[in-house]
Amino acid sequence: MGELTAVCTECGSAKDLPLLRCASCGHIPAGDDRPRSLIASSRMLDPTQLREVQRRIQVGEPFRPSLDRIAAARRMLAGAAAADPFQFTVTQAILLVLGNLLLTPALGFAVWYGVRSRPGLGGRQALWLTVPVSLAVTLGWIGWMYANRAALPTATPGVL
Ligand SMILES: [Zn+2]
Repeated sequence: MGELTAVCTECGSAKDLPLLRCASCGHIPAGDDRPRSLIASSRMLDPTQLREVQRRIQVGEPFRPSLDRIAAARRMLAGAAAADPFQFTVTQAILLVLGNLLLTPALGFAVWYGVRSRPGLGGRQALWLTVPVSLAVTLGWIGWMYANRAALPTATPGVL
């Protein structure tokens, strides 16, 4: 008998992956049963614990993991546990400011959009490096347009 990797939260049958449909009873983990199914797998339990969970489900005991475990399983499902906190290095920060200045501040906003949901300081840093540059560029444009308008030859003076 191979290593147990996951068990069905309904009938306790072995499954290859925690979120798959159970081949024995047809149960498909949905809603709150998704984190519970992840817990009833080798991703969160060691083989001994998993066999114990399987045994309990098979004798008809309801499978009620602790709230801590459910929260951890939800984080794992959301992928947050896998994502590293993101923070700009000094070099990346300088490159982002240069990119904002030389190309377009849309670059910084695109970076911010990409990192905003990652844990860590990255999202806020991207805004700090982008918003002032984008304001400066906008003001620069307005100033340049005013300067050029003033430099244009004035319209023909009125007849009167
Ligand atoms: Zn089942």
